Amino acid sequence: MKVLAVNAGSSSLKFQVYEMPEEKVLISGLFERIGIDGSYTIKYQGEKNKKDVSLPTHKEAVQILIEELKNYHVVEDMAELKGVGHRVVHGGDKYADSVLITDEVVKVLEDLVPLAPLHNPANITVINVFRELVPEATQVAVFDTGFHQTMPIENYLYPVPYEWYEKYSVRKYGFHGTSHKYVSKRCQELLGKDDAKIIVCHIGNGGSISAIKDGKCIDTSMGLSPNAGIMMGTRAGDIDSSMILYMKNNAGMSVEEIDNALNKKSGLLGISGVSSDSRDIEDGVKEGNERCALAQKMYVRKIVNYIAQYYVLLGGADAICFTAGVGENSKGTRSDIISSLACLGIKIDPVKNDVRGEETLISTEDSTCKVYIIPTDEEVMIARDTYAFAQK
Ligand code: AMP
Repeated sequence: MKVLAVNAGSSSLKFQVYEMPEEKVLISGLFERIGIDGSYTIKYQGEKNKKDVSLPTHKEAVQILIEELKNYHVVEDMAELKGVGHRVVHGGDKYADSVLITDEVVKVLEDLVPLAPLHNPANITVINVFRELVPEATQVAVFDTGFHQTMPIENYLYPVPYEWYEKYSVRKYGFHGTSHKYVSKRCQELLGKDDAKIIVCHIGNGGSISAIKDGKCIDTSMGLSPNAGIMMGTRAGDIDSSMILYMKNNAGMSVEEIDNALNKKSGLLGISGVSSDSRDIEDGVKEGNERCALAQKMYVRKIVNYIAQYYVLLGGADAICFTAGVGENSKGTRSDIISSLACLGIKIDPVKNDVRGEETLISTEDSTCKVYIIPTDEEVMIARDTYAFAQK
């Protein structure tokens, strides 16, 4: 059965077509700069093909995607595509699991837009386009927030007036759930232990840390929005909330400008003044750039703080897993983080750590806790859930 996994952003659309249940990727690609000018790249049988095209809206991207699936003979007829799975950023507290998309589900997603104003509108647009253009396919929503719905209330509530939670749904939701679920499940398999205590560090351009026990999320670092927890590429993560009023009153900035700065001009970029990309920060550190060194030090510190917090919350850990762009590729950042955890007896082997993007056990034999690199695969999780619904 052929199933399409879709990950739509405000100006982009990533896709992968799978042959299920084999989980074989038949074709993949990325549409970019939607609403600006437009281009797309298709990867098919090891070859990449890039084209510049006009993409005024997501609809044109989906139309081209459908044409290309036929051009590449991935499908001869769209009826062969039995399922379309959509990554949806915010499912609020309505969805702990993936769901079959109906008119009612689309209505709930629209109601959730205030919680994810930057993300959910693009997801809804693309869902509606697929429902119009490929009406026979089973459409499934897979939520970034879903996996974190098992957090106990004391871990997801903020100590603010309780009515904020009751009336406005103010609480921690957590994000990157599909990745945390995939990595922790894979880690359980590697450990051969279903009740393992696992800390997953999903560190990429965005980043979040999760504490997982018995396959369930107990706590996670992101919050009401994806701008909470650790320091990220351009996001500040946890800050003192009074800073917003202070900057409004003293720097003459509007709340929107401050929010924009906290999301897009902070984190590694804000501190280094150089880049949001950890490769540039690492180069800067090598060249003796002090602000890059400071940014790297702060970045590592924030991650270590969360790992230490979750280590205590879980009562120890069987494994710490690194995933996403930085976690999978940066041996320096992994090494800096684990060195800071030496007092817990956690150690990695520098030779084993000298690897990029490969599933590897990098801890030493005598480490008190195993440390893994586990490359994430959110798309395959979307494909699996979509396949499960399409089979029904
Ligand atoms: P993601 O958001 O998971 O796609 O991760 C993207 C980020 O991963 C980039 O912005 C880089 O900061 C980081 N990254 C990718 N490759 C490397 C590398 N070889 N070394 C350090 N960081 C990397």
